[in-house]
Amino acid sequence: MSHCVFCKIVKGELPSIKVHEDDKVVAFMDIYPLRRGHVLVIPKIHQQQLHDLPAEYREHLVNTASRIAKALYASPLKPAAVHYMVNDGPAAQQTVPHVHMHVLPRYSDDSLGFVARLLRKPFDLALGPQKPAELEALAADIRRQLA
Ligand SMILES: [Zn+2]
Repeated sequence: MSHCVFCKIVKGELPSIKVHEDDKVVAFMDIYPLRRGHVLVIPKIHQQQLHDLPAEYREHLVNTASRIAKALYASPLKPAAVHYMVNDGPAAQQTVPHVHMHVLPRYSDDSLGFVARLLRKPFDLALGPQKPAELEALAADIRRQLA
């Protein structure tokens, strides 16, 4: 029995708002988003770090993240840039020991707000997740562009 929350999401034992799923990866909305449209992409096998993944999973993870970025650009969120982020180990603030790539919409001059959100994240964890309805609406926008 796995205690890993991302393995539970893969198995459907925990709910998630998915934007994409196939035989190797799942992509879903981060329920504690650093900004609107924050997506996580995870492999369907449990490995802690990127270099531990079989090459075809690593490749597919990156390909999926870039497809999601493309969908974000085309969505009403219209980011100016996209931030891909992998915290690869506990000392790099990896909070769940299962490889995950963050895909984050970024905007010109949003660095201050971004850092503020990053610092606020512990408070968000205490206050609870973003409203499912909002996340579902964002996920629908991204799904539409992926289709
Ligand atoms: Zn896992």
